[in-house]
Amino acid sequence: MSSKLIDFTEIDPDGELWELFARDFLQEVGFFVESTPDRGADGGKDILVTEQLQGNLNKYRFKWLVSCKHNAKSNKSVSEKDEINLQERLDSFGADGFIGFYSTIPSSGLNNRLTALKDKQKIKDFRMFDNRLIENYLIRIGFSKLLMRYLPNSYKKVKPVHLITSELIPLECEHCGKELIESLNNETYGAVVCHVISNDDSEKIIDIYWACKGTCDTKLEEKYHRQSATTAWEDITDLVIPAMFLRWVLTSMNQMRENPEMYSDEAYKKHKHFIMAMSQKVLREMTEDEKQRTIELINLPGYI
Ligand SMILES: [Zn+2]
Repeated sequence: MSSKLIDFTEIDPDGELWELFARDFLQEVGFFVESTPDRGADGGKDILVTEQLQGNLNKYRFKWLVSCKHNAKSNKSVSEKDEINLQERLDSFGADGFIGFYSTIPSSGLNNRLTALKDKQKIKDFRMFDNRLIENYLIRIGFSKLLMRYLPNSYKKVKPVHLITSELIPLECEHCGKELIESLNNETYGAVVCHVISNDDSEKIIDIYWACKGTCDTKLEEKYHRQSATTAWEDITDLVIPAMFLRWVLTSMNQMRENPEMYSDEAYKKHKHFIMAMSQKVLREMTEDEKQRTIELINLPGYI
C-alpha cells in the first residue's frame, strides 16, 4: 500500500502541531503521555510516554522517549545528524527506549545507530512510527477523529470508517471471513454484494451475501448455481458513492412495496445489516453532540 492516502504536509511544519499530533496519536494507540511537547536545549522537541508491560510476575512501566520530526515538506529521511545527542536525551529523561515519530522515514544510518545502542544494551528497545505506519493506523477504526482534526483534507479523501453504534458493525466475507468494511479504505473494487434470485417465476430474492471478488465470490456463486438460483452482483466500492448507495436502498424499497414477498426473511435481515454496515462508510461522522442527542432520543444500549 502506498503512503499516498494521507498527505502529512497538511500539518504546518512551523509551530508545534506535529508534536501535538504525535501526543494525541500515541495516546490513542494506548500510551500514557507523561510530558507534553517540550523544547529541549538543542531545539529538539521530545515527548515522554509510558506503557505498562506485563512481566512474568508483575507489571512494570516502560518509559519511551519520543522524538518528533516533521520532514514531510522536504521529504527527507531522518538521519543520525537530525537526532543529535541521542544518548544524552535518553539519559536525561531516564528513558528505557526510543520512539521516532516521523512524517517521512528514518535513514538506514539512524536505524543502524539505534540497533547498535540496543545491542550494547544502552537502550532496551526502539520503535519507528514512520509515515507508512502512522497512515496504517490512521485509516483504522477509532482514528477518524484524529484524522479529521489534524489532516482534514486527507480525511475527506480517505473517508474513514466511523462507528454508528457503540461498536463496529462488521461486513465479513461470507466465504473467508475477511472484514470488508475496513479494507475499503485501501482496496478498491475488491468486494461484491450479491442478491441470490430464485429461478422460478416468482424471482424472489432468497438470500444476500457479500464476499471478496475472485475465489470467494466464485465459490459462493457456484454453491447457489447448484441450487439453480441466479445471482446479481454489485461492486461494494461503487456503493460507497452516496448517490449509488441511495439508489440501491431506494430500489429495494420499491421492490418491497411492489411485492412484499419479494425478499425472504433471511435476505431482508441481511439487507438491513448491509445498509447499517455501509452507513459507517457512506454517512458522515457524527459530532459528539449528535451522538449524545441520539443516545438521549433512543435511550437504548447500542442505540439502533
Ligand atoms: Zn473472502
